[in-house]
Amino acid sequence: MKIFAANWKLHKNPKETRDFFTEFLKQVSPATDREIVFFPSTICLEATSQILSSSKIKWGAQNCYFEAKGAFTGETSAQTVKDLGGQYVLIGHSERRAIFSENDELIAKKVSFVQSLGLTAMLCIGETLAQREAGDTLKVLEHQLQIGLSKADKTKALVVAYEPVWAIGTGKIATSVQVAEAHLAVFQNLQKLGFQATTPILYGGSVKPENSKELLAIAHVDGFLVGGASLEVASFKAICQS
Ligand code: PEP
Repeated sequence: MKIFAANWKLHKNPKETRDFFTEFLKQVSPATDREIVFFPSTICLEATSQILSSSKIKWGAQNCYFEAKGAFTGETSAQTVKDLGGQYVLIGHSERRAIFSENDELIAKKVSFVQSLGLTAMLCIGETLAQREAGDTLKVLEHQLQIGLSKADKTKALVVAYEPVWAIGTGKIATSVQVAEAHLAVFQNLQKLGFQATTPILYGGSVKPENSKELLAIAHVDGFLVGGASLEVASFKAICQS
């Protein structure tokens, strides 16, 4: 199963969300061996839920808190995502780590909570440019997996997205050799930690229709997490069909 996930970040309002899906549903129906997942912004999740309710396309939130409800002003409830029919929550995206100071310990609580609800946790990991240049990439990935998954349930749904921070939204694409090395390391770390060999590992970072085919052919690349190129029907459709 290949997974093609769209991270819309803080783009599109509910009308733009509906317009996108109306067109996307006309043009794309996922192949049986492919899963398509959208992560619209929180305020567009209800519109997403309504328009995708009878389609095979899945969706989820870009972030959540590790409690279902309570005095947590400004947070997103994974329970509500579930109530609306969502199946995924993205956790630990590099923008959450860098801009909102999320650390691996907090991320571990979110992964565990999301899994406890029966939703799929999509954990994002990846090194910064400074960490890569210091030769620390594999050490960083190992640490992020070790701590970020320290409370995870090995029997429940999990997806890992490897996203080198320096390749996100920059147009800089990791080379096939860099992607292959990182994905093999993620696969081996997941094995060492006792996770299922079938745990999908996605690549993210400036994926475009022009590079998606080559990237998808790399060992242990089970799909993509796409930002910029997922905002237009034509480009995301082309990536989903790569
Ligand atoms: C992302 O936001 O996770 C991402 C990979 O963005 P982009 O495709 O724009 O680099």
